[in-house]
Amino acid sequence: MHNIADMKYYYLPFLFLFVLSCQPKEMVQYKIPIYGWTGGPGEATDEELKAKFADWKAKGIDGLMFNGGQDPATYARVGKIVKSLDMEFHAWIPTMVQAPKEGIKDEWYAINGKGESALTKPAYVDYYKFLCPSYEGVYEFLANMYGAVAEVPEVDAIHLDYIRFPDVILARGLWDKYGLVMDREYPDYDYCYSPKCVHDFKEKTGIDILSVEDPSQVEEWKEFRYDLITNIVNRLSDHVHSKGKKINAAVFPGPNSVAKKIVRQEWNKWNLDAVYPMNYNDFYLEKPEWVGEMVAEGVEAVEGKRPLYSGLFICPNPENKTEENDPENHGLIPKEIETAIRASMENGATGICLFTPDRMTPAHWEAFDKAIHIDYSAKN
Ligand SMILES: [Zn+2]
Repeated sequence: MHNIADMKYYYLPFLFLFVLSCQPKEMVQYKIPIYGWTGGPGEATDEELKAKFADWKAKGIDGLMFNGGQDPATYARVGKIVKSLDMEFHAWIPTMVQAPKEGIKDEWYAINGKGESALTKPAYVDYYKFLCPSYEGVYEFLANMYGAVAEVPEVDAIHLDYIRFPDVILARGLWDKYGLVMDREYPDYDYCYSPKCVHDFKEKTGIDILSVEDPSQVEEWKEFRYDLITNIVNRLSDHVHSKGKKINAAVFPGPNSVAKKIVRQEWNKWNLDAVYPMNYNDFYLEKPEWVGEMVAEGVEAVEGKRPLYSGLFICPNPENKTEENDPENHGLIPKEIETAIRASMENGATGICLFTPDRMTPAHWEAFDKAIHIDYSAKN
């Protein structure tokens, strides 16, 4: 029988070991991986950029998806600052959406079901100038542009965006904004009926898509267009990898429940180093818990072959959210961010990507800090 005094001596060595083993965890607190979408640099000086990024790093952000145009010099300048803070630096550059510029022919733009070019009559908004994925010149333009940026030593990865067709169906939360009811595929928003796509599809399947009454019922036509995007991604992936850099993409949620249906992204077939689904629940009139359903679907679709970072859309003015008509000003309010992070991590996300750190209010950061230091995998 041990009395209290004896037990103290028995337990002392174990207590000592326990304290020792805890110490590294106390010095370096556990944290889930976090990225942030941002852009610039605008007029900001190097000092201003460094101060902003250092602040984000202190708040838990490990890497930036930085949108800075197509000039490699911009990525060299900003990348130097980001790397000096020991953060990852990804060059975030839209893919299929390209304003007219040298190296892009007018006839390379996508054509809708009414025969209208995305160059001269873009859908929804003026910048929706999508290219046709079939023209070899389109791939060559993209490969040269991304290749030049990938060669910048400070760039860790290329981050593709708008790597898709125009939304043939808009997210439900955007219908009111554009005054549309998108109960089915309409020719105005259905692309790509360029001469090359029509020709290539006929050659492949024998179907003349221009003579089909309702092309949305032709499964081969859907698959043909998924494959056009998949093919561009996988060729760009090989090209960027040949430069010794990584490549990943911002994608729509799903892929099956949303991305394939509304923007023709079959992203589970893309040879990328990571995927960043934009699980923006408010755009789909969904609650933050829905983010977890989308993550579960995406993780299953990529079969564990690549990490999935759950993209979260932050509400910049939480106090006005209920009166806001424009979904672009919606998003997660501080009390929802913990739910969205937990739902993402418990369903298999490798980490989180914020759209955007700039939109985070002090209350967001406070809730965020509580959510990111939990090891969600330990709970399973
Ligand atoms: Zn086309």
